[in-house]
Amino acid sequence: MGMAMIKARDELAAVIPYPLGPPPEAIQKELGFKRIIRMGDNENPYGASPLALEAAKRALENRSFYPDGTYSLLYQALGRYHGLPEGYFVAGNGSDEVIRLLTRAFISRENEAVMADCTFPRYKTNVLIEGGVPVEVPLKNGMHDLEGMLAKITSKTKMVFVCNPNNPTGTIVDKKDLIEFFKKIPENVLIVIDEAYVEYVTHGEMNDAKVILSQYQNAVILRTFSKIHGLAGLRVGYGMMDPKIGNELKKVRDVFNVNRIGAAAAAVSVNDSAFIDLSVKKNKIERAFVTERLEQMGYTVLPSQANFVFVLLKGPAKQAEAALAQKGIFVKGIVAPGYPSAMRVAFGTREENELLLEAIREYSVEGVM
Ligand SMILES: *Cc1c(COP(=O)(O)O)cnc(C)c1O
Repeated sequence: MGMAMIKARDELAAVIPYPLGPPPEAIQKELGFKRIIRMGDNENPYGASPLALEAAKRALENRSFYPDGTYSLLYQALGRYHGLPEGYFVAGNGSDEVIRLLTRAFISRENEAVMADCTFPRYKTNVLIEGGVPVEVPLKNGMHDLEGMLAKITSKTKMVFVCNPNNPTGTIVDKKDLIEFFKKIPENVLIVIDEAYVEYVTHGEMNDAKVILSQYQNAVILRTFSKIHGLAGLRVGYGMMDPKIGNELKKVRDVFNVNRIGAAAAAVSVNDSAFIDLSVKKNKIERAFVTERLEQMGYTVLPSQANFVFVLLKGPAKQAEAALAQKGIFVKGIVAPGYPSAMRVAFGTREENELLLEAIREYSVEGVM
């Protein structure tokens, strides 16, 4: 029995589902690898806070009950960490969801949103879903071109995204330049600063969330528990913003959008500075090590302040990605304006990084990458 084609909303014609290949676990099984090295999703190779895992286990005991939809304990913990009142926080099922809530609440058809090209792809997708217009400004020397972005702000602009450090390039924008940029953004434009990797920055100062929010009521700062906190599988992220903006997001969110286990783990992880500090320290050492070795092999890499590095390749990106996967090493091949072939590689443990470098050396000699 045939079914008539049901037409989806017009806006979706421009949207493609996020390209998900077979999961590393499936490839591991298929090729019979004893272990795999996950360097494609910027996860933390050192696990997660043991205190957070304890909290998650305790929360699992109450799995039959809905979470506290006010997320009060989480917001109190975040409030202590950031020095902000509870009302400044909106949690999401990953900060991916907070991006979705922002576009849902603020982007109407034909509103424009200015962003870098390339940057985190979810900004563009979510703007398109609402019928908005993504205005993409190419990176300049691998960094956000703030001047170029300002030049694109018009009466139609509703939102501007700055990913800092930027995914996938790992580059940061200067603290002072960012403030100068904020000053020039009209008050009726939402400034979204995505700080998914900010904890990893060790060079150059970052702006303090509390200071930014006290000076710019149109600013929103995004953070996640998926990266340095090592809780990607639990799906928790959050935004910090003036409560007036937050209240609009709360209108469009699902009531229990963050699960009980993730919320409990996050509330503890945020204040486990021992685990975070250790991760920062190890990452800094591995970042220097991998960068130096890649440069010795003749690769150009962008200066990273994150837990991954953007490497310019000599062969096609997809080919490099596939070749490394054949050795059980998962990275992200990237093709972007100005970067016809590149890959983003998250740093692993020293042992994992040695295996990565060995594989790259081999493929480099063969002319694969
Ligand atoms: C990983 C990432 C996120 C969101 O991650 P969630 O798992 O949804 O919290 C947001 N922004 C950037 C730039 C990221 O790299």
